Amino acid sequence: MTGRWAVIGAGIAGLAAARRLVGAGCDVSVFDKSRGVGGRMATRRAEGLQFDHGAQFFTARGDGFVREVEALVADGGAAAWGEVGYVGTPGMSAVGRAFSRGLSLVPSRTVTRLDRAADGWRLATAEGDGTMTEAFDGVVVAVPAPQAKPLLASAGIDWSGISRARYAPCWAMMLAFAGIENPIGLSLKPTDEAIGWIATDSSKPGRAGGATTYVVHATPAWSRQHLERTPEEAAAMLLARFQVLTGLQAAPSYLAAHRWRFALVEQTAGAPFLYDEARAIGACGDWCLGARVEAAFDSGDGLGAAIAGRA
Ligand SMILES: Cc1cc2nc3c(=O)[nH]c(=O)nc-3n(C[C@H](O)[C@H](O)[C@H](O)COP(=O)(O)OP(=O)(O)OC[C@H]3O[C@@H](n4cnc5c(N)ncnc54)[C@H](O)[C@@H]3O)c2cc1C
Repeated sequence: MTGRWAVIGAGIAGLAAARRLVGAGCDVSVFDKSRGVGGRMATRRAEGLQFDHGAQFFTARGDGFVREVEALVADGGAAAWGEVGYVGTPGMSAVGRAFSRGLSLVPSRTVTRLDRAADGWRLATAEGDGTMTEAFDGVVVAVPAPQAKPLLASAGIDWSGISRARYAPCWAMMLAFAGIENPIGLSLKPTDEAIGWIATDSSKPGRAGGATTYVVHATPAWSRQHLERTPEEAAAMLLARFQVLTGLQAAPSYLAAHRWRFALVEQTAGAPFLYDEARAIGACGDWCLGARVEAAFDSGDGLGAAIAGRA
């Protein structure tokens, strides 16, 4: 199956699918609602600081992803973070940038509807004047399941796996301190109702020196309970708990929080990807195989290979 393909979502799953399709000779456009690529493999930059506020590290177990990570490390786009796992360098978003090299990207476009026209698939987007895109021979939907479901429904598709998949939300707090002794080493996984993970972000390889920075993830239960709080409220509450857990009482020089509504997969679709060959439409993402970067990669890579295999 060659021709023109639209990939919706430039996270690791969408990028892996797009690379497979391009490798098979397809003409591919990758749409994403964000300005950048990488999805939840994200790095926030503010006030001269940077934080990996989404995925913290990744591991590589399967042969395919091991080869990808080795190439990424050799190229300077990732490095081992102590014994914890790999991280993107100089930030987690470097991984998406490396994976997107050579792809045709359409940033800042939120796809809202898929229409099956006589000449192929056309996409409606929230931005612009309401005109549909040009026609595509096929579509890959590579966004979290709760966001994929309405898109696929607009195309008349109701895959039961999509409804089965569930995500936990996560509040992520970012904080920086000047001139302190870091009390926790690389990371801490406290047994606590509010905080499930603390990373010394500045201890990751390739980060600029200076401030000691932390990324703190709230537990799924706490995040659910406080999901509709403002970022300022969430940050203030998590800071108080962070101070108790670490003993660090100094006032942070930077404090912010980010809400991930769809952070970690709690229940998968139970299939590596979904694909309707007759209608030339597929869906992939971490929600197919599990809450890990490698699972998202495997899902997208597998879908891309399945489509390319029908050429
Ligand atoms: C807080 C947190 C901590 C994590 N920690 C780890 C960890 O330590 N290790 C690990 O392996 N994994 C971790 N993960 C999980 C990992 O980040 C994900 O499994 C993986 O990045 C998912 O990739 P994806 O391509 O499936 O989805 P995403 O990365 O979510 O990509 C989907 C893309 O689709 C775009 N999009 C959505 N809707 C639309 C639309 N309508 N139109 C256009 N674009 C759209 C989004 O902007 C996004 O770029 C963590 C995730 C979070 C949030």
